[in-house]
Amino acid sequence: MAFDSATSDFTDRHLLGIEGLSPIEITALLDTAERYVGQNRQANKKSELLQGRTVINLFFEDSTRTRTSFELAGKRLGADVINMSVANSSIKKGETLIDTAMTLNAMHPDILVVRHGEAGGTQLLAEKVHCAVINGGDGSHEHPTQALLDALTIRRRRGKLEGLKIAICGDILHSRVARSNIHLLVTMGARVRVVAPLTLLPSSIGKLGVDVFHDMKEGLTDCDIIMMLRLQNERMNGNFIPSIREYFLFFGLDYDKLSVAKPDALIMHPGPANRGVEIDSVVADDFSRSVIREQVEMGVAVRMACLEILAQNLQEERETL
Ligand code: ASP
Repeated sequence: MAFDSATSDFTDRHLLGIEGLSPIEITALLDTAERYVGQNRQANKKSELLQGRTVINLFFEDSTRTRTSFELAGKRLGADVINMSVANSSIKKGETLIDTAMTLNAMHPDILVVRHGEAGGTQLLAEKVHCAVINGGDGSHEHPTQALLDALTIRRRRGKLEGLKIAICGDILHSRVARSNIHLLVTMGARVRVVAPLTLLPSSIGKLGVDVFHDMKEGLTDCDIIMMLRLQNERMNGNFIPSIREYFLFFGLDYDKLSVAKPDALIMHPGPANRGVEIDSVVADDFSRSVIREQVEMGVAVRMACLEILAQNLQEERETL
């Protein structure tokens, strides 16, 4: 395998989260992803960079975009890609995770992409295997490639991240997307706000370097970017909102609430979007403002970049052994 670039500024074996990454590391991942945007728009999208390498997508939780785009990313780089979906109901957590890790490890994969329902599940697995591990989402903890693709989308549209006013709205408490995005955007110098009812905010929110709002119009005032989040019902035990109707009334993004943001403010959503719950259908489909499809496109480029860089790091690590 011939990697044409010199060693990247991102030198870790795994990508388990955004927390703790430096601006230089984040920029290295984004710059590499940028190269793939053009390649993915050509008729021939394929290269041979990861020929002979094996990528296994191991998903303990459902996924549409993340799994598909990792599969596409691996295939476009010439790797052999295998998808394994493990129904949550049939596993004994912990024991099965480690058993699965040991089984897969024996097959000599190069990169494992892991999604797990528990925060820390991916980290635990990474400690047991000899290959590189990418976190495809662990509980409500982190979803690093989502934050990277969001950052790439913003950077391409606005030319920078630093200084932008970015509002992340909705179910912050249960959202790994919110957590990874907050770490990334704060690290890159954006001015991040979260807008949510008290019940959907983690108690530690004050330590994350964001401004907190409970009213959409106050929170969205003068914002450059608005990120909406899905209510993560699958992670809720108990009642966090009075009713969907009331939630939409106060926290759903519609044109009225949007009117206080910058006139060219971009609307983002990691998907899947629940129309009429956190976002009005017409706003989600307003492609003069909504970059939801572009986020999906950037997802493939970002995942190609992560696969490239981690495969390169692993090769260098193996060569020095
Ligand atoms: N797809 C994202 C995730 O896996 C967001 C969501 O599910 O709401 O976290």
